[in-house]
Amino acid sequence: MKQPVLFISSEAYPLVKTGGLADVAGSLPLALKQAGIDIRLLLPAYQSVLEQLDDYQVVASTRHYDHDIDILQTTLPGHDLKTLLVHCPALFGRPGNPYLDTNGQPWQDNALRFALFCQVAVDIALNRVGLDWQPGLVHCNDWQTALVPALLDTFLQRPATLFTIHNLAYQGLFDDRVFFELGLPGGLWGMHGLEFHGLFSFIKGGLVFADRLNTVSPTYAREIQQAEFGYGLDGLLRHRASRLSGILNGINTDEWNPATDRYLAKKYDIDSLKDKSINKKTLQKKLELPVDRQIPMLGMISRLVEQKGLPILLEAMQKLLQFPLQLVVLGSGEKAFEDSLQEWARRYPKNLKVIIGYDECLSHQIEASADLYLMPSLFEPCGLNQLYSLRYGTLPIASKVGGLADSVVDANQENFEQHIANGYQLPENKPDALLHSIQRALDDFSDKPRWKQLQINAMTPDRSWQASAAKYIELYRLAIADNS
Ligand code: ADP
Repeated sequence: MKQPVLFISSEAYPLVKTGGLADVAGSLPLALKQAGIDIRLLLPAYQSVLEQLDDYQVVASTRHYDHDIDILQTTLPGHDLKTLLVHCPALFGRPGNPYLDTNGQPWQDNALRFALFCQVAVDIALNRVGLDWQPGLVHCNDWQTALVPALLDTFLQRPATLFTIHNLAYQGLFDDRVFFELGLPGGLWGMHGLEFHGLFSFIKGGLVFADRLNTVSPTYAREIQQAEFGYGLDGLLRHRASRLSGILNGINTDEWNPATDRYLAKKYDIDSLKDKSINKKTLQKKLELPVDRQIPMLGMISRLVEQKGLPILLEAMQKLLQFPLQLVVLGSGEKAFEDSLQEWARRYPKNLKVIIGYDECLSHQIEASADLYLMPSLFEPCGLNQLYSLRYGTLPIASKVGGLADSVVDANQENFEQHIANGYQLPENKPDALLHSIQRALDDFSDKPRWKQLQINAMTPDRSWQASAAKYIELYRLAIADNS
């Protein structure tokens, strides 16, 4: 594909990350570049982003909503991927989380912040700021970028647009008066535009106006067309079904590789699986758990929110902690979940360790040390941790939704005989089903040859971005054809 691509995201690893979107935005553009695409990444210049950069240049300037804005150019750290930053200190020059204030509430001017981000993206997309570069396709991700397809649609000559849904639960909903305060074209209002039950919806800009839509797994693409997962947008998504598809995320196999992982006490690969337990012993010592390589360890690294199955886990906890196992949970999120996890950990210090916070290094150590990984999500657009777990020979126990259904193959006898089994699927999203699946996993764990085979099945497939990038290029072609 010859047309250049502008890839727009509100976060990208390693510059700024709150979740899976950052992993995708920090990996997929690299894989596309490797496949020969002329691609640039566009991000807001958050304070923390600028603090990490040694070098950047102002390459253009523009003005929106009474703010002077510089467009900065740099490269993604460690790579030669051209990265453009929207520099508006009044809106992005704040410490901490990109979306939330210090009380954990959304910044009160989020609509303005991301509308301005989208306006600048449109300037670049239409080559109106003198960059002497014009994309043939603009790839938008999640609600923070979703006004771009809507705004571009008001132009006759425009690049094609692809909108990727990383999580339909986050929609960017605001009061209707915000739409008018932002001076958006009046033609974009209404139920066939950006209105959603009287509110102003950012995400509808992508869902209604993008030439093509996709999500981060084939199963989630189907699920969001049903009322149960659709948040009232399922009708619209069914209407656009012929333009909607799913591509399972790859993973960054340089960052997530047990054979080279700089955070591990002992690196290992498929031929030295024995060494995995050295990591377990090291982590047990570090976390002051009983040191014993025979005791099965379960890991969980997650935002502590309902989506990730915290209510199911907490309801099962009393019985779960009667099993001969250790559970290590790393995460942060809703205070009530943090508090009850910590309370359980106080009562069962030999079985449960809870670390509240965000810790990249520890997340790698847990993936390498644990034997099993818990992911009882209520819904999961793709999910990355089950993919990391598979690569680390750490078998996922996961619900049968979204990307989990597309990557975890249950260790039933039939799948085992076909050498494709790699984990455990919850028969339903209930505490008893979780306990039952854990019991099955523990039974397998005590059968060493069987366990080793399951680990080999998990670690063998190529989970890099190359295959997914090829599918995105095909989708870009389709979007460009739709727009011509
Ligand atoms: P989501 O985007 O819904 O949060 P994903 O599984 O797609 O879930 O991606 C989450 C990413 O964030 C993974 O890379 C995971 O390791 C990471 N992560 C989540 N919580 C933490 C934490 N407390 N410490 C370190 N990494 C975390």
